[in-house]
Amino acid sequence: RLKEGRALALDVWSIYNVANLPPDCINLGQGYMNFAPPVWIREAAEEALNQVGTNHYSHPKGRLRLRQAIKDFYGPQLGKDLDVESEILITSGANEGIYSVFVAFLEPGDEVIMFEPFFDQYLAAVTFNSGVPVYVPLHPQMDKEKPTSDDWVIDFDELRCAITPRTKIIIVNTPHNPVGKVFTREELEKIADLAKEHNFMVMADEVYDSLVFDGKEHVRIATLPGMWERTVTVGSAGKLFAATGWRIGWLIGPSYIIHPTLAATTRIVFCSNSPLQEASAVGLEQAKARGFVDQQLQEYEERRAILTEGFDRLGMKYTMPEGSYFVLLNVSSLQWPETYPFPQSVLGRGRDFRASWFIAMEVGVSSIPVSEFYCVEHCAIGEDYARFAFCKDADTLRRAVERLQGLA
Ligand code: GLN
Repeated sequence: RLKEGRALALDVWSIYNVANLPPDCINLGQGYMNFAPPVWIREAAEEALNQVGTNHYSHPKGRLRLRQAIKDFYGPQLGKDLDVESEILITSGANEGIYSVFVAFLEPGDEVIMFEPFFDQYLAAVTFNSGVPVYVPLHPQMDKEKPTSDDWVIDFDELRCAITPRTKIIIVNTPHNPVGKVFTREELEKIADLAKEHNFMVMADEVYDSLVFDGKEHVRIATLPGMWERTVTVGSAGKLFAATGWRIGWLIGPSYIIHPTLAATTRIVFCSNSPLQEASAVGLEQAKARGFVDQQLQEYEERRAILTEGFDRLGMKYTMPEGSYFVLLNVSSLQWPETYPFPQSVLGRGRDFRASWFIAMEVGVSSIPVSEFYCVEHCAIGEDYARFAFCKDADTLRRAVERLQGLA
């Protein structure tokens, strides 16, 4: 069972962990920040640690203050007066929320559709719970001079063909990891129509919802007609507040989705980190008044510009992301000596694994090979790309860009 989920193979995060790379390697691989959460949120965490109650178990649903803050922050965006008792669930990172939905809903043989490339945790979460992954690749339109994430397109005939009577859930990750695609209203409407026609659920993984660039609209599929009823929306304090190690995430959806998922999560972790739930609540309560989200977005737009302008100078093609904090660099033209000493963990994998390794060893910038986010049959599409994360301070990105010029 573990084998089916590729869980026994060394995972990509471990291979390209900076611990395995040259000591001064700049980490643009695994997506986490090299800066701390805002000081006012850290102060709230400290305050929570200094109170007795917040150091102990929370209700398995999550602390009421955080659920209330989520209701106030996301309710208007979802056009819903959310019920804090039955429609919001706090989880140990978005990851555990996703996992718990599968624990709650998958019967052996139930199919889960995911667009490729997909965040690799989905695959293990589905197969560990006896589900069957069904893959629908996004097709990169690479003839464009300057492709954007919008040029990774869904073939709706392919999607229709992937649907069977066993289809239980489709995962819609927007903004998308690793492409940065922000699904358009039209795309989401078509997906929604199929979900309603064939009666399956939607898992809307929107953990990068605060990072949508160029004024593009982030459409929540749960807000489309008839979709609240069949959608669970996934959110993350880690992405929103630069606190990926806090492991605070949440699910929002109708009570009949949240309730069984609560039963699952109660048995998996019982409840999530209590003091950091309190700090996350303060984050959401004050984010708007402090202008935090807008300011952070602007900083990310600047970070994206540093990296992509660096790629422009390098003369290598990449996908300009409209959301999230990743850029896919097309590494298909990168060459290395035939005898280059790649480790065994890299040799058995796609060409992109060698490209990422070569870049890290030669110029000291790590990235994540993208074929890991594909099934075996489709992994050739991913072999052309390495994913670079720009959730780093401007200085670090500038240094990385300078080093990458060494590839020219
Ligand atoms: N979501 C992050 C990324 O894609 C972290 C993934 C992980 O650590 N498994 O980089």
